[in-house]
Amino acid sequence: MTPLVSWAEVRALLLDLLAIPSPSRREAALAARCEQELAACGFRVVRDGAGQHLKGETGNLVATLPGRPDRPPLLLSAHLDTVAAAAASIPTLTDDGRVYSGNGQPLGADDKAGVAVVLLAARRLAHRRGKMGTLQVVLTVAEELGMLGARYLDRSLLQARAGLVLDAPGPAGTLVTSGPSHTAWQLSLQPRAVWGTATPTSAARLAAQGLTEWRKRLPADCVLATHEFAGDGERLRVSGELRCRSDFLLEQARAAAVAAFAAVAAGRWQCKWQWQCLCPAYDLPTNHMLCRTVASAVQSAGLTPRWARAEAGCDANVFAGYGIPCVNLAVGCQHMHTSRETVHLADVAACTHAVVHFCTDAAWYLPGGLG
Ligand SMILES: [Zn+2]
Repeated sequence: MTPLVSWAEVRALLLDLLAIPSPSRREAALAARCEQELAACGFRVVRDGAGQHLKGETGNLVATLPGRPDRPPLLLSAHLDTVAAAAASIPTLTDDGRVYSGNGQPLGADDKAGVAVVLLAARRLAHRRGKMGTLQVVLTVAEELGMLGARYLDRSLLQARAGLVLDAPGPAGTLVTSGPSHTAWQLSLQPRAVWGTATPTSAARLAAQGLTEWRKRLPADCVLATHEFAGDGERLRVSGELRCRSDFLLEQARAAAVAAFAAVAAGRWQCKWQWQCLCPAYDLPTNHMLCRTVASAVQSAGLTPRWARAEAGCDANVFAGYGIPCVNLAVGCQHMHTSRETVHLADVAACTHAVVHFCTDAAWYLPGGLG
């Protein structure tokens, strides 16, 4: 197969991106670099107002390349920010094309390898506009802080109907088609004045009993985390996060919480619940037209498609909530967020090939009304 993109081109762009520090909320320099690149490819580039909401240097970058109206408008997305420690990384290249950080810091290939794939694909797709629908590139900020950039994205800028997020862990070609919802919860406990009875236990003990009971009643596949206990002996606020694979399971998990605490409180404590959806669950069947299209593009790039489910949410969850189903494709970044983080030039090149294929030839197979 003739390579669509050379290792030399991947190396030049990837090392360039890795050399620009972009911890969450400080993505301006990297955003400027990407904006320049996309504008040169003919995209109309705007930044949304998410940066002001998040007190960051810049908003999300939304770039649009108009295409044929008879083809589905598609989305390519990656995130600009890295974990904080990656800002100090020293990108180093081995003779066989592997990139790692020379000083024991995380490399920051999460997600600059994804950004590199998007930009390399954009360079090629700029010459293939007659073959595809409108293409939108969304590069988000503050993903590492709980998908904040995507959650505050200006949705009025979006035209895409389906797409790819380039941010999955695992070997290149791994296709993540499902991720759990994240829901923040907070419980306030306060003793009720019940005539003639003493409050049976402390709020802290009640909370511990209630959480144990909740865990017992939690549906399988839901994950409960407790983040904080605050208050004095009598009143208490407990907060945490819940991850569920579907809305149905989330409803069951919430009902289990209310029932568990009602059981241990026995009418003597007031339990007030607050719930906030941080991102919805998404779950695409692997025979979904989008999944089949991506898998065929991945295969055409010489990679092996591997189906996977994520244990945590990512920007693909947020896009799903906006009505834009996305598969999260792994670029081959290994050991994300650790000192062993690494990515191979060959994987970035192959994923670029897959993305170009997905956006052009493979887009034939996507029905215009997909959604
Ligand atoms: Zn990431």
